[in-house]
Amino acid sequence: MKCIFCLKERPGTEEHIFPRAIGGKLTTNRVCKSCNSSFGSKVDAALSDNFLVRGHRARLRLAGNSGEPPAMHELLLGVGRLAENPSIRVEVRFDECEQKIVTRTLHHASDVIMPDGSKARKVVVDEKDAGDLPKIIQRERKRHGVPPLSVEALEAEVSRFRDNVTVINNPKVLFERSYSFAFVRHAMIKIAYELAFLWLGEDYINDPSAAELRDAICSADPNSTDKLPAYVADAEGFEAFKWWPSNETEHLAYAFAGDDGIAIAVRVFNIHAAFVWVTKEPTRYLSGRDAGQRLRFLCMDAITGQKRDAPVMDELARIAAAIGVSRNNEIVKSDDLSY
Ligand SMILES: [Zn+2]
Repeated sequence: MKCIFCLKERPGTEEHIFPRAIGGKLTTNRVCKSCNSSFGSKVDAALSDNFLVRGHRARLRLAGNSGEPPAMHELLLGVGRLAENPSIRVEVRFDECEQKIVTRTLHHASDVIMPDGSKARKVVVDEKDAGDLPKIIQRERKRHGVPPLSVEALEAEVSRFRDNVTVINNPKVLFERSYSFAFVRHAMIKIAYELAFLWLGEDYINDPSAAELRDAICSADPNSTDKLPAYVADAEGFEAFKWWPSNETEHLAYAFAGDDGIAIAVRVFNIHAAFVWVTKEPTRYLSGRDAGQRLRFLCMDAITGQKRDAPVMDELARIAAAIGVSRNNEIVKSDDLSY
């Protein structure tokens, strides 16, 4: 077979159009082993392992390629700030021996003015690190050119600390999370490209738009997809899916034909959505008798594996019936799906 990415004649491998880690059950055998594995670690992983999707997979218990779903607690780990006093940084980690999440205040020193107007150095440490206090005090004194304390004075300081312990049960810790959207775009456009090939047929491989999509998806440059006629954004409020309710276990996709081209809309859970123009030549695919069969709708449940795969006009008729409008009233027309 000819690989739909590198165009080389090579044996095909099982490629999940929606990555397997997000419960994708639809496959194609038109991707070679080399392309499949290079996409898997970068492009597909950008979609299935970004923290929004990973958190979702942890909640839905969706296993990745390792066979295990992401652990819920891994999303809560790292260094954050105490909600009630953001100047205090808190480390949150998972204790393997105790099998529980443990928090620790990170050592923090600041200059303060005492009630009598004198300047002092205030040190905040976790109670678990109290044993380090003598060392920390002497180090702070040295750093500020103050002579070291005697053993007795040091003991007195440490016991003062003992009287000033604040216990916060179940502290609320704020994390800042960020992730790159770049390869998520690659991944969403890749799903649309593979669906285009599946739905429009073998001839799609020679379409000039297919070549543009392919080149951009295969490029290692994170900005390579920026100039494509594709819009990728949060699923929430995404106009192209306004007829379908937000659903946290389903993936959706459909083909849309306009006068100037065919686009494919893709929604991954209720998280990411894309609208990708896959060809500028609709008549190339829609002139035959089976044209209506080529514009398809797909709904796939990531948990149960159930698929609804139908011509998109049938799906629109189903929605029209569901909202109490007959097909003849044409309130739901394909035009309403333009974007
Ligand atoms: Zn290939």
